[in-house]
Amino acid sequence: MDANRFDVLIVGAGAAGMMCALTAAQRGRSVLLLDHSSKLAEKIRISGGGRCNFTNLNSRPENFLSQNPHFCRSALARFTPQHFIAMLERHGIGYHEKTLGQLFCDDGSEAIIAMLKSECDAAGVRWCMPCGVEKIERDDEFVVTASHGKYRAESLVIATGGLSIPKIGATPFGYKLAEQFGVPMTRLKPGLVPLTFHPEEWAAYAELSGASLDAVVSFGKHSFRENLLFTHRGLSGPAILQISSYWEQGMPLSIDLLPDLDAHEMFLQQRGSKMLLGNFLAQYLPKRLAEIIAVQWLENKPLNQYAEKELRTLADKLKKWQIIPSGTMGYGKAEVTCGGVDTRALSSKTMECNNVPGLYFVGEVMDVTGQLGGYNFQWAWASGYAAGQAA
Ligand SMILES: Cc1cc2nc3c(=O)[nH]c(=O)nc-3n(C[C@H](O)[C@H](O)[C@H](O)COP(=O)(O)OP(=O)(O)OC[C@H]3O[C@@H](n4cnc5c(N)ncnc54)[C@H](O)[C@@H]3O)c2cc1C
Repeated sequence: MDANRFDVLIVGAGAAGMMCALTAAQRGRSVLLLDHSSKLAEKIRISGGGRCNFTNLNSRPENFLSQNPHFCRSALARFTPQHFIAMLERHGIGYHEKTLGQLFCDDGSEAIIAMLKSECDAAGVRWCMPCGVEKIERDDEFVVTASHGKYRAESLVIATGGLSIPKIGATPFGYKLAEQFGVPMTRLKPGLVPLTFHPEEWAAYAELSGASLDAVVSFGKHSFRENLLFTHRGLSGPAILQISSYWEQGMPLSIDLLPDLDAHEMFLQQRGSKMLLGNFLAQYLPKRLAEIIAVQWLENKPLNQYAEKELRTLADKLKKWQIIPSGTMGYGKAEVTCGGVDTRALSSKTMECNNVPGLYFVGEVMDVTGQLGGYNFQWAWASGYAAGQAA
């Protein structure tokens, strides 16, 4: 037998690549897992603040963005959060629910990496890392020329992830390979990313850096109620990260700064009050934000000195603050890449390319992007498992 020939060669030993490798190897396939990084699964390690938000109990197709929104259904139904939890429990790894169905490791993300590695090893997966890929060709099989040698494989799985955090090894490898084999792509953009504003527009708010509040942030028909954080350059926090994946350049976001309150009613009741606007707002908003709003949006006067119309306009603005970000913090700060390999060119059952038999794409490299909260790993596990059952 040719020592450099495998049934399945997987490029990218991250979340999706390892899940695919262990699944295929458990079926008795010979598997080579190749990665250019010297450290295994860095994205799992840094995820969830070092505790890896590895799934979400409420995972549903609606939690994913894609130009082909039904594509993810089949894979998500066949590998659910419970399947991953069962694997953790077999390995005695503790976990807890933080909020909104988000599951985190008790003792840090390294436990997940070690678990996946040991499942791969037990199933006989072979490793080649650090190892760069120089060239991929196809005759009757795939021929991969890598820095460590030349390999042949019947099935080739691309699990190289997205573009976020290039300093830990993200590359456009998967997208280039799609192009090489004529597999279409959808537009790429950073997702789950802080938003920025023009410095002169943001000057008034920059000093709020570090202030946060509970808010509803909306774009089109999408709304998220979570924490909103002011930064030197713009806005961040879970509510902003969530909406950033939907936001389109040049378009306004709408922010409700007082989600549980009827702002009109609030001002109406206080019309005769001598309290300064800034002090009044500070009862409901972070003090510094209340002061800036009072000074910048109006002028900080006692409430009884405003015309009714002025307070009505202010109430409207507090409930629907329209702002147009100038951009995002980019791939250096984004948690994910939105867009990718067009899923209309793939089988939703196996992740195999319709027009290139034997070529599979799994994980973030595809045009399936999860919301914040463990959904991106759930997609990596589910798509890796689906391809591992077929490749
Ligand atoms: C800071 C941060 C925190 C996150 N936290 C969470 C979280 O808590 N929960 C959640 O669900 N998601 C989280 N995510 C997103 C999640 O990490 C990714 O969606 C997920 O890792 C994607 O899995 P993947 O296997 O497709 O890609 P990756 O895990 O990125 O793996 C890709 C692998 O391919 C390798 N590779 C890349 N290019 C090449 C090449 N040219 N040759 C060889 N190998 C290559 C890389 O070295 C890497 O090992 C977070 C992301 C970031 C950046």
